[in-house]
Amino acid sequence: MTVACGRYAAAFALDDPDVLVDAALCCPLCLGADTRIDVRHTNLTPNGRGTCPACDATWSVTLDPQQLLRLALDPPAATRVTFSGRLPLLPPHPEDDE
Ligand SMILES: [Zn+2]
Repeated sequence: MTVACGRYAAAFALDDPDVLVDAALCCPLCLGADTRIDVRHTNLTPNGRGTCPACDATWSVTLDPQQLLRLALDPPAATRVTFSGRLPLLPPHPEDDE
């Protein structure tokens, strides 16, 4: 059974060590660190959707631009971070320049 656990603002800084980033993204239900965060860009705000394979919980995480940068450039060790949709960090398509 999937347990929906609401929405949270991620609480980590750009230069926090991996353990703090993993802790900020851990499962709100079982506190497991082996979580998956799928980041997508909606309504001008990058949002992460978290899922926990251990207890089937799901939740939403709001990310500020610096947190998004950290996850893109230096993802933490335990959390599996994936990106979907068109994020502003991604380089523009070549045909967009013409
Ligand atoms: Zn869990």
